[in-house]
Amino acid sequence: MAKVAVIGAGAVGLSTALNTQQILPHASVTIIADRFTRDTTSHGAGGLFLPSIDHLHGRDPDLVTQWSVDGFKFYSSLASSYEAGDSGHMIMPGYVFSHKEIKNPLYKRLVYSFRELRQEELKKLGVDYEYGYQVTTVITDTSKFLPWLMRRFKDNGGTVENRTVQSFQEFVGKYDIVMNCSGFRARELCNDKKVYPIKGHLLRIKAPWIKYWVYTEDGAYFVPSQDAVAIGGIRQKDNYSLTADPKERAGILERCYKLWPSLKGAPIINEWVDLRPHRDPLRLETETMSFSNGSLKVVHNYGHGALGITLCWGTGLSAARMASAELMKNSKL
Ligand SMILES: Cc1cc2nc3c(=O)[nH]c(=O)nc-3n(C[C@H](O)[C@H](O)[C@H](O)COP(=O)(O)OP(=O)(O)OC[C@H]3O[C@@H](n4cnc5c(N)ncnc54)[C@H](O)[C@@H]3O)c2cc1C
Repeated sequence: MAKVAVIGAGAVGLSTALNTQQILPHASVTIIADRFTRDTTSHGAGGLFLPSIDHLHGRDPDLVTQWSVDGFKFYSSLASSYEAGDSGHMIMPGYVFSHKEIKNPLYKRLVYSFRELRQEELKKLGVDYEYGYQVTTVITDTSKFLPWLMRRFKDNGGTVENRTVQSFQEFVGKYDIVMNCSGFRARELCNDKKVYPIKGHLLRIKAPWIKYWVYTEDGAYFVPSQDAVAIGGIRQKDNYSLTADPKERAGILERCYKLWPSLKGAPIINEWVDLRPHRDPLRLETETMSFSNGSLKVVHNYGHGALGITLCWGTGLSAARMASAELMKNSKL
């Protein structure tokens, strides 16, 4: 029986672990992480499925498309199943507004529906943008999705260790392959300086009258989850601060109230600041590491930036296939 370790219990680690169990049903899979559910970056994400190539600079567009297709298939099957409430998936219409024409975005071919708005429709909505698109997509409520993935993983016989990994060397001779889903902290664990932060800041408000999402490319958006509406946001490259800056908070509120006045007056119930784990390009590849006590096969899967919830299932599936191919090569299966 092959022994597989997965570093990380965010959306990427959990999706990779579950896909590994599905592709290698006889393997024993252990998740090793020191942060779970609400302590991960994945927990606070908006969860909007709107894949774009622009956010993954340098990665092959065909691969990004494949990961997006796999992710949408999985999420949409959950959203229309009896599990939707527990897994946190909702089919929801919304709007993308822009000052520039958005030509043929990747999500156009994937989502449930996509239509360019006419000028009179933009006028009726009262927004100050030249272009608008009505898009029906799927939203993931990450506060539900992470626990759901973990339950599935444990039900399949997976085990979990709560500890910090200091070095890959500790896995030599103990595991046949390691899946590295350490998100932003791959910067230290792999000494990978291509990983950099893009600071984000979201406020969650109680506004049950908002039944749709809105995304703009100039710093104002909102996305409902099952119990709240996340409003944002900021994108600050190379800002490592995890502190909520009052000026940034005021800016988010001002931009969102201007964009959509009916958000004003809704009570703020939560505030969240975290770092998008960017890497140009996202790293999904196999490496053989050599140490004094032996060698180790590692499948790296990190650097999902602003698209970790969108792409976690698709990249998790690819990573699991790569692990299976490696184990086959070494006749571990
Ligand atoms: C404000 C904001 C809004 C966002 N909105 C969206 C959105 O709408 N849609 C979307 O697709 N994405 C969104 N994202 C991006 C998304 O949140 C991230 O891409 C995603 O969460 C990355 O997941 P991950 O599993 O790689 O990392 P994480 O969730 O950070 O998980 C990393 C895991 O690795 C473990 N780990 C790391 N190093 C070690 C170690 N040395 N030892 C043990 N364990 C270790 C941690 O304990 C943790 O369990 C948003 C991000 C931000 C900041």
